[in-house]
Amino acid sequence: AAASSLGSTELSASWFERAKRSLAGGISSSSRLTSTGPDPYPLYMRSGSGARIRDVDGNEYLDYLLSYGSAVLGHAPPELTGELTKVLATGTMFGTCNVPEVELAERIQEMVPCAELVRFANSGSEAVQGAIRTARGVTGRSRVLKFEGHYHGWTDTLAISNRPAPEETGPHDAPHSVPHSPGIPTGVVADVVVCPWNDPESLRAVFAAHPAEFAAAICEPIVANNACTMPDPGFLDLLRDLCTAHGTALVFDEVCTGFRTGPGGAQTLFGVRPDLAVFSKALGGGLPIAAFAGVRELMEPLATGYVKHGGTYNSSPLCATAASLTLARLADPAVTGRIEATGQRIMEAIRRAAKDHGVPCAVQGVGAMFQVVFTPDGTPTRAYRDTFRLDRHRYDAFRHHLLLQGVHTNAYGLACWFVSSAVTPDELDRTCEAIDVAFAGLAGDDD
Ligand code: PMP
Repeated sequence: AAASSLGSTELSASWFERAKRSLAGGISSSSRLTSTGPDPYPLYMRSGSGARIRDVDGNEYLDYLLSYGSAVLGHAPPELTGELTKVLATGTMFGTCNVPEVELAERIQEMVPCAELVRFANSGSEAVQGAIRTARGVTGRSRVLKFEGHYHGWTDTLAISNRPAPEETGPHDAPHSVPHSPGIPTGVVADVVVCPWNDPESLRAVFAAHPAEFAAAICEPIVANNACTMPDPGFLDLLRDLCTAHGTALVFDEVCTGFRTGPGGAQTLFGVRPDLAVFSKALGGGLPIAAFAGVRELMEPLATGYVKHGGTYNSSPLCATAASLTLARLADPAVTGRIEATGQRIMEAIRRAAKDHGVPCAVQGVGAMFQVVFTPDGTPTRAYRDTFRLDRHRYDAFRHHLLLQGVHTNAYGLACWFVSSAVTPDELDRTCEAIDVAFAGLAGDDD
């Protein structure tokens, strides 16, 4: 076996034991239950700098989780920390209008094609809720269309069919609406119609079966929460056309793609303008902030107060300043270009190592966010149900081998790698070497 750079993680283990006595399950988010290290407990991260994070036992990792893509400029980026320290000293939030939120909204208007008007929130889930409330309020309709396997946050509104078990899914062309958790009211579930991704026939059929009935159709343009499945060419255009024909607001959930896949996010990358879009993660550069934005016609009822949206913490000076500084960097195509190029090299390293060691897999997504999927024949996934064929154990083993080499990635095989602008050439080389060692390990596991 290859030498491991990972030392003891016993302090993480003891913090987890202690946490379970006060935090429900020892965790603060259900997804962290799966964020296990090589041992059956989560790693407790203590600090981060640039592309690296350090756990409470002092182990250092190259980080490709990046707080699910939030730390897009790396951890504790110097372009933010100095200014934020000043804001800390002068008051972090007033619950009032403030200057940083105006400057931030103007930046978003400049960068995002659909962003004629903007509203802020604190998390992706909240901003999704804001966009859906707006679409429902404006159209006077209740029904919403979403895609199987896409994730739009934990709130009742859309926590439906993001990860249904195979036996719950129903017919391929008319999937059941499956609540992600007990506690979601049946009426809410009934208002969400689910469609398979990348299936033009089913998409046409669902609009035909519900003519002029959907307030909104929402998707992740690159499905970050379903192993970075890409949209087939033309699929987003078809969705755009059907939404227009049926008076349905097209909502792009750009919580992961926004400002990461280029200054204008996925809507610029694919050249499809949604009516509303939702942002978070990279927007805040590591601080909690989110936004929804859209065309004037849809956002105007918020302006008049006809549609309501609120939040004590919305666009606090601290978070709005962090976001403005982050967007100032990400508005430079050279910065997003560097993120993309770094990621492309890692994707290439995975493909090469897989070939060298004879391990079938596909690497999908874009450089800035991607995932490796261990399909039996090495083909990419096109929709949620393709992921039933994935070798989950192999992903876990891959992730484990990487962790032993000091590379930290998402514990959940249907999530993805995120790349920051902070990765140095040396760190990139080390990542690629770790990938080769990990694939050698996978091939060795087979022997
Ligand atoms: N939409 C997408 C595409 C996401 O990836 C996430 C979070 N992973 C959310 C919405 C919800 O964001 P939050 O966790 O900040 O509520």
